[in-house]
Amino acid sequence: MAILKVARLGHPVLRKITTPLSTAEIQSASIQRLIDDMIETMKEYNGVGLAADQVHESKQIAVLEVADNPRYPEKPRVPLTVLINPRITQLSEETDEDWEGCLSIPDLRGRVPRFKSIRVQACDRQAREIDFVAHGFHARVIQHEWDHLNGKVYLDRMRDLSSLAFLAEFARFWLPA
Ligand SMILES: [Zn+2]
Repeated sequence: MAILKVARLGHPVLRKITTPLSTAEIQSASIQRLIDDMIETMKEYNGVGLAADQVHESKQIAVLEVADNPRYPEKPRVPLTVLINPRITQLSEETDEDWEGCLSIPDLRGRVPRFKSIRVQACDRQAREIDFVAHGFHARVIQHEWDHLNGKVYLDRMRDLSSLAFLAEFARFWLPA
């Protein structure tokens, strides 16, 4: 396994729409290795999610996991999940605004509105169909990664940029006590 280099904002790969994978591609050794490397890279940088285009592979793969994460203390746990070719449907118009960060936009946090509840349909790493409902922070992480796969970053989703903060100032003035 390997820790991969993370593309930062400004790299054109982050603005491209990623390509879906066939079942044969998902099951190939090279994609299985990429998934392992994405998981290792996400953990190395304490991310809660990582999209393949963030490691310079313009493919519809995202990984997510929320365990004990120093970047996101006090957040509910999300088991390690691999989403390939995901489709997302909002379950209501209800949104929630909360802080997000991104490994491709280091040292910044901003408040982003997201749908509270979504249905997620995707393939897992064995190319089996998965279909589940996600709420709250879990739904937020998936919407953030799904945006990456569609060439978007969280800054595009902010209502305005007035909450944008560097991490040190976020911790000093805005971190919930
Ligand atoms: Zn991100």
